[in-house]
Order: sequence, then structure tokens, then C-alpha cells
Amino acid sequence: MTNVHYEDLGHGITMIDAQLYRQGQVSTYLVVQGDRAAFIETGTAHSVPGLLEVLDLKGIPRENVDYVIPTHVHLDHAGGAGALMQHLPNARLVIHPRGARHMIDPSKLNAGATAVYGETQMERLFGRVIPVPEDRIIEANDGFELDFNGRPLRFLDTPGHARHHFCVVDKTGDGIFSGDTFGLSYREFDTENGPFVFPTTTPVQFDPDALHASVDRLMGQGLSYMYLTHYSRVGDLPRLQADMHQLIDAFVAMAREHAHAGTARHAKLCREMMTLLLQRARAHGCTLPKADMTRLLGPDVGLNVQGLGVWLDKEMGTA
Ligand SMILES: [Zn+2]
Repeated sequence: MTNVHYEDLGHGITMIDAQLYRQGQVSTYLVVQGDRAAFIETGTAHSVPGLLEVLDLKGIPRENVDYVIPTHVHLDHAGGAGALMQHLPNARLVIHPRGARHMIDPSKLNAGATAVYGETQMERLFGRVIPVPEDRIIEANDGFELDFNGRPLRFLDTPGHARHHFCVVDKTGDGIFSGDTFGLSYREFDTENGPFVFPTTTPVQFDPDALHASVDRLMGQGLSYMYLTHYSRVGDLPRLQADMHQLIDAFVAMAREHAHAGTARHAKLCREMMTLLLQRARAHGCTLPKADMTRLLGPDVGLNVQGLGVWLDKEMGTA
């Protein structure tokens, strides 16, 4: 037993915590339609025992899982795909065409993450990404529709956070599995005003114009919920859409302002982004102590600033 945390959200959708970083940071989803099942997002290799445990608890045979669907190939979303697929004899992996080769040969993903985190942290956080056989992969282009046991799942190409990112429109669930495209919203920041959201600009493919357009495209589907990877389901979408647009612009503006700050740029941007998010969380009615908010937001602020730096260097032609 892994003490996995999970929550039934209705419409055959169960949110399963990926047990990465802390409980409440990374979601995966089990979608059940009749006697068939699909996983959307996999977490890492270390998440796989928890995912299988929930499948067992629900009495779903492993042979009945038809699809494994990571929204993009960042390791907290797709790192466990190869390991999970080894336990699911009939499952096929559905992936963005730009991500497929990294699932077939994950050496670049492994090397990239090891370069950032070091060998020990890489193993502790993510484990190793193992290959998915090419003949088990379905590439989902923009507009692709999957007939999941009579439940249509439609795939939208949604660049902005990453160019290998799609979102999965599930009319039956009245929502969209939005990966990282519709931002981050941790349940600790929920107040009587609803959820608190902010964009993720993680390296290395953040593209503000594309992200604005993708957010609007998701909203254009006219559904009620986003099933976020970070974290779980949110409603109140028109307000969150406006917040996403404002904050994408604010992040870009602060990056441009400090574009020429040299080696001080990273630290300046981290301070400024944290200050902005803390102010907005307070205005939203969040009563957590500042130290708790800073601890919860700190890792994302660091990654966001790294991603803004990469984007800025490309913009300025210095990358
Ligand atoms: Zn990502």
C-alpha cells in the first residue's frame, strides 16, 4: 500500500495524486467509461504504484486500460509513462506529435533532467524514464478525436507552455484536461472567492503570445471545468481566464524591465514575481501565513523565472 491520495470527481473521473514533491502538487486522472479505463497524465516512475493501486481498489483489471495520455513530455506529466505501460498490456500511449520521439527514446529527457537536477535528485524525484515501444504510440494532431468506449475525447494543440503540449476536451466530464496550459492553482489558496491561478512559464518553450491564444481557445470550448495537473479540478473559469491573461502580461513586463540586469536578473525577477503573487493571493482573501505561501509558491517562482530568462534570451537574440 502506498497511502495514495485520490478523489472521485464524478463523470467517471478520479483525481489521483502523483506523490511528487508534496501531496497537493501533481495530479493524474483515471477516467472510466463503462468497463474501460484511461489514464491522463502519469506523474513519474515513482507515481506508478499509486496509480495501479487505485485501479485495483476500483476493481478494474489492468487489461481494461485502453489509453495512457500525458498532455506533454515534461517529467511530472509523462515521466512514468513507460513504466506504467509495462503493467497495462492493452494500453496505447496517446501523445503530441512533437513529444512522440522522446517517449520512444527518452535519452534526451533523462539527460536534460539529470543536467538540471543531478543524478541523485533525478533518481529520487523522477526515477528513470523508460522507453515506450513505437508500435504502442498514437500521435494526436490538432483536432484528433479518440473514441474512448463511446466517450469522445478531442485533442487540441495548445502551445505556450510547451510546443509538445495538447489538451484533452472531454464533453462527458464537462471539462478539459489542461495539463499546464491553463496555469497552476493549488487548493491551499482556495478562499470564499474561489480558486487562485497563475501561469507556468517553465523552461524552455514558454511563448506568451501562444499561451494567450491557447487559454482563449480552451475557453472557446464552452465547458465548465479545467482538470489541471497542478492541481485537480477548478471552475469559475472566466475569472481565471482574465487572471491568466493579466499575469502572463505582468510576467513578460517584469522580464523585459530587468532584461539587462545581467547576473542579478534571476534574483531580481524571483523577488518581484513572489511579491506580485503574494499581493494577489492576499487580495484574493488568502489568510495563510506569508512563510507558508512563500514555501508553496517558491519552487514554481524559481522555475517560472528560469523559463522567462530562456524566453528573454531568445527574444534578445543572446541565446
Ligand atoms: Zn510542463
